[in-house]
Amino acid sequence: MKKKFIRYIILFVSISLIGIVFTQLFWVKKSIYLKKEQFDNSIRIAIKSVLNQLQERKSDSTFLLTLKKLRCRKGHIEITDIINPKLLDSLLKEELGCMAINHAYYYGIYNDPTGRFVMGHYHSFKKFVINSPYQFSISAIYRPGNYYLGFYFPGKTSLLVWQMKAWLILSVFFLISLISSFIYVVSILLKQKKISEMKNDFINNMTHELKTPIATSSLAAEMLLKPHILYDTKRITKYAEVIIYENQRLEKLVEQVLQISVIEKNSETFKFKKTDVHILLDTVIESMELRLKEGNIRLEYKLGASYSMVWVDKIHMMNVFYNLMDNAIKYSPENPKIAVETSNTKQGVFIRVSDNGIGISQGHQKHIFENLYRVPKGNIHEVHGFGLGLYYVKTVIEHHKGTITVKSEPGKGTQFEIYLPFKTESNDNNTNES
Ligand code: ADP
Repeated sequence: MKKKFIRYIILFVSISLIGIVFTQLFWVKKSIYLKKEQFDNSIRIAIKSVLNQLQERKSDSTFLLTLKKLRCRKGHIEITDIINPKLLDSLLKEELGCMAINHAYYYGIYNDPTGRFVMGHYHSFKKFVINSPYQFSISAIYRPGNYYLGFYFPGKTSLLVWQMKAWLILSVFFLISLISSFIYVVSILLKQKKISEMKNDFINNMTHELKTPIATSSLAAEMLLKPHILYDTKRITKYAEVIIYENQRLEKLVEQVLQISVIEKNSETFKFKKTDVHILLDTVIESMELRLKEGNIRLEYKLGASYSMVWVDKIHMMNVFYNLMDNAIKYSPENPKIAVETSNTKQGVFIRVSDNGIGISQGHQKHIFENLYRVPKGNIHEVHGFGLGLYYVKTVIEHHKGTITVKSEPGKGTQFEIYLPFKTESNDNNTNES
């Protein structure tokens, strides 16, 4: 129910966000359209005013007299006799300026079917002037022929966008911050959800693991209290052994959890000594000998490092080796074959623990060193664990200024490689050797 609820909320907010983005885009587009309309209207008003002024000048009695004289002299009137190019230029400047249109524009008066320009300021933009949407017939001023006054505004769109820049920048800024905040919140939410699921799994596992030894040892203790057992030393020993064994199991479990919290909080728990890691590996393998034999596990043990003295905390480092070997056995259900090898460079020593087990898919490899992380059930074949082991391993290795990496292929096996440097800042001054 909770899972579904979160999913619905994410879906609902995502849809709302997409809605906001589209609404915003719609309004921006609409605003640009309105700005364009406003621009077109300003141009129409300015040009109409210029044409009116030219027409008024044409009706002036002294101008009419001049025209009459010209007609007598030349036999006909040209358009340049009626419209003075300089006057046209200054009137356009004045009227467009009045409408706050001060940026570059090109214009020209041309004959419609022939496309011949008779005056204007058009450079190489004749085609643009003819094809632009701003065309004004001047038939009311000059009749013979079909003449038009056309305009071309090259930076019109960028001007409109520029005029709206504050709103555009604000819109983009708010949209980006809204979307990134949403992505951040969702990622935190999903992370929290994953952590809470992992914690639940851990508590369930722990409860299960604790219940069995407690129940078994209390049953054994109850049996010891039965009067008919008092003189049966064999059974007394057997029950006492059960209690001790279960107690040790409990101790191990508690230790596993405590270890993590201790090293997480306090790096002073580490007692570094110059130690031969080969001796530590020998000790761990010796302690596992019985398990290896019982499980019919083949062990390939190759200590190839020619120098293996490293500053380590013996106990923690042995736990690390133990954890890796334990995992290699746990996650290799069929014909287990485990390899432990070492090698070294001038700077440090490498310890590799490999198996031919179930492997870990690429997607999970990124997470296995996280606290409480376990590969989801499909992959682990009912193997018991708490997801603490590799987190502990990584934390310990980091305290040694080393690194741990994993290479794995599902179905083929896994290899963990630890690197421990011979020299680190923290051990430079230390002189203890063992
Ligand atoms: P766990 O207690 O579950 O073993 P670990 O922290 O030791 O916890 O390991 C985390 C997860 O990494 C395990 O749940 C397991 O799925 C995977 N894993 C660790 N070692 C191996 C291995 N050698 N082969 C396959 N999977 C492994």
